[in-house]
Amino acid sequence: MSTQRALIIGGSLSGLLAANLLRSIGWHVEIFERAAGDLAGRGAGLGAQADLFTVMRQIGIRIDRSMWTEVRSHVCLARSGESICRVPVREVTTAWDRIYQSLRENFRAGQYRGGMALLRCEQTERSVVALFENGARIEADLLIGADGIRSTVRQQYVPDVVPRYVGYVAWRGIVEETQIAPQWHAATLQDMVFCLPEGELAFSIPIADRDASGGRRCMFVWFRPAGYDSTLRQWCTDASGHCHGDSIPPPLIRDEVLDELKLAARTSLAPQLAELVAGARQPILSAIFDLETTRMTFGRVVLAGDAAFVARPHVGTSVTKAAQDAWALADELVIKGNVSAALTAYEQRRGPAGRELVARGRRLGEHLEPGRATLRPSIDALLRDFGPGSVDEWPSTV
Ligand SMILES: Cc1cc2nc3c(=O)[nH]c(=O)nc-3n(C[C@H](O)[C@H](O)[C@H](O)COP(=O)(O)OP(=O)(O)OC[C@H]3O[C@@H](n4cnc5c(N)ncnc54)[C@H](O)[C@@H]3O)c2cc1C
Repeated sequence: MSTQRALIIGGSLSGLLAANLLRSIGWHVEIFERAAGDLAGRGAGLGAQADLFTVMRQIGIRIDRSMWTEVRSHVCLARSGESICRVPVREVTTAWDRIYQSLRENFRAGQYRGGMALLRCEQTERSVVALFENGARIEADLLIGADGIRSTVRQQYVPDVVPRYVGYVAWRGIVEETQIAPQWHAATLQDMVFCLPEGELAFSIPIADRDASGGRRCMFVWFRPAGYDSTLRQWCTDASGHCHGDSIPPPLIRDEVLDELKLAARTSLAPQLAELVAGARQPILSAIFDLETTRMTFGRVVLAGDAAFVARPHVGTSVTKAAQDAWALADELVIKGNVSAALTAYEQRRGPAGRELVARGRRLGEHLEPGRATLRPSIDALLRDFGPGSVDEWPSTV
C-alpha cells in the first residue's frame, strides 16, 4: 500500500502535534503555516495535564526535567499581600516555547513551509486539494485544519460558527527569576498566586525557562473587563492611530496603555503581582473568546485544536486538548485503516470532550463577564476549581 499523505494547515502547537503523531504511524505529512517567520517568540506559560507529556513521549521526545515546573498550592492574596486562602495542589506548568521547539525541530524546511496561507479546499471522493494564496495546489488523502480560532478551514465548512467575545481580556507577561525580589521567590516560583480585585482576576504561575538550564520564570495573567468597541479597540490601537482589530502585536502596544496597566496593578493588586506586571518586558494582550464548532469533520477534512473548540484559558488545558485531538486522530487512522471511518470515530471521541471543556471554561469565567460579579464563587471554591487540575504523578523523563 502506498504511503498516505496528510496536509496540515497551521504550524503552531496543534498542527505540530498532529504532524508528529501522523508521521509516527507512517503517514507522509507536510505542514503549511501562514506566518513566514519562526513562531518561537509567540507563546507564554501553559498549564498542562499528563496526556500532553504522554503524547510527546509517544512522538519520541525526551521529557527533560527542565521542561516542566511544579505548582504546590493555589494561594489567594489580599491587596495588602497577606495570604487569605491556600489550597494544596499537585499541578504542572510548562512553557509554550519549550513545547514548540521540541515539536518543530523534527521537520526540515521542505516539510514545514512558512508563508503558505490556505485559501480553501476542494474534495473528490478519493482526495482533497488545498489551494493557497500564492497559487499552489496540493493534493492529499487528508487535510487537517489546525489553523486556530479564525480557522480558514472551519469558515469554509461551517461559516456560522464564529468566536464569541466574552467581555474581558487577559494581559500576560513573563518575568525572569533573576528579576523577582528574593523575598517573593518562594511564593511566585512554587505556587499559583491569585488576587481578586472587584470584577477581575489576576494570578501568577512559575514556568520553565526557555532553554534546558533548569531555571524558572514567572508569568502573570490578569483578566480585566474591556468593552469590545471601546476599551479593547483603544488598547489595540498603535501609536500611529491604526486599530488592529481585537488583537495587537505586543511590540505595538502603546506606552500609555502599558503605563496605565502598571498603575492599575499598583492600586488594585497585591504587591507580589504588581511587581510582576511592572517587571514584564513585553506584555501580551489577548481578548478572550468562546468557540464551539458544530462539526469537526467534512469528508477528508478534519479540525483539531483551537480551530474546533476554544475554551477560556481558566481551564489551562487547551494544548493538552490539542494533544488529545492528535492522539485520537492517529489512533483511529490505525484502528479503522480508512480515512472516512477514522474521521467518524474521531468526531465521536473528540466532539463531546471539546464541548465539555468549553462549558468548564465558561463556568470558571462567567463571574468575570460584565455585570455578573455576583456569580463569583467563594475564594476557596475558586482556588479549588481553577486551572488544569492535579496530576497523579509528576511527568516521568523515561
Ligand atoms: C490568555 C491565554 C492563556 C492560555 N493559557 C493556556 C494554558 O495555561 N494551557 C493551555 O493548554 N492553553 C492555554 N491557552 C490556549 C493555547 O494557547 C491554545 O489553545 C493553543 O496555542 C492553540 O493552538 P493551536 O495550534 O490550535 O492554534 P494557534 O496557536 O492559534 O495556531 C494556529 C496557526 O494556524 C496558522 N494559520 C491560520 N490561518 C491559516 C491559513 N489560512 N493558512 C495557513 N496557516 C494558518 C496561524 O498563523 C497559527 O500559527 C491560553 C490562551 C490564552 C489566550
